[in-house]
Amino acid sequence: MGGPSRHPWLSRYVPVLPRPAEAGRGLGKRGLWPASTGWDMLVVRNTVVGPFAENTLLVGDGETGEAILIDPGGTGGTGSPGGDLERTLLMREPGAFRIARIFLTHGHIDHVAGCAEAKGRLGVPCQIHRGDAAWLDAIPQQAEMFGFEGARERPDIDHFHEDGETFTLGEHEGRIIHTPGHSRGSCCLFFEKARILFAGDTLFAGSVGRTDLPGGDFEALERSIREKLFPLGDDVRFFPGHGPSATLGDERSQNPFVGEVARRGRFV
Ligand SMILES: [Zn+2]
Repeated sequence: MGGPSRHPWLSRYVPVLPRPAEAGRGLGKRGLWPASTGWDMLVVRNTVVGPFAENTLLVGDGETGEAILIDPGGTGGTGSPGGDLERTLLMREPGAFRIARIFLTHGHIDHVAGCAEAKGRLGVPCQIHRGDAAWLDAIPQQAEMFGFEGARERPDIDHFHEDGETFTLGEHEGRIIHTPGHSRGSCCLFFEKARILFAGDTLFAGSVGRTDLPGGDFEALERSIREKLFPLGDDVRFFPGHGPSATLGDERSQNPFVGEVARRGRFV
């Protein structure tokens, strides 16, 4: 989308994060990030897909091999030369992870474009917050507006999740945190024991999600991050929907929109 000057899914106020050199197409044969990294036996892998360089993530329990696929935004269709969906499914190797469910952080096209296709291939349930159901209904319009030629199909949603809901992934418990702001139904997924958070487009390394699309609300986003994410702990490593990972501590102090530097700036 026209070079690195501005990313369409980041806040319009922010300089853009360059596509991380260590993530995505340039990395290794499988596009894993970073190859295979475990925190307390949770394995996180990433592949960068689609025209907006979205992070599709796999989180797997190293003991049982059970995994969750997060935001399959890449399709195998004509809009995605190179087969984003194939690379997405390759994240199951090595280790032969078995994807048990698809988790959608929100309903924007770059995060859901490949969901119907991935769900069909994997035969697993898929879930999202009800607040973003309207974005799924609008997939054809979103696809047209943002140039996702391979994605026209609305995925069937098996479950609408809510704030505070939990599920197990092997030995781990994942908790859903509703973080409205980037969209009404935006949610994060937190693994407390492993200290890992999947942040969707709510929080980025050095930035926050844009809030000028329908359903966006900057004050809600600020509250979500400051009141629901930062209290999880400075040591928590988060994986956003675009760009590199960072820790919540990095953002609590340095993030120019919601960190301490932003508060200081406001009162000078
Ligand atoms: Zn988004």
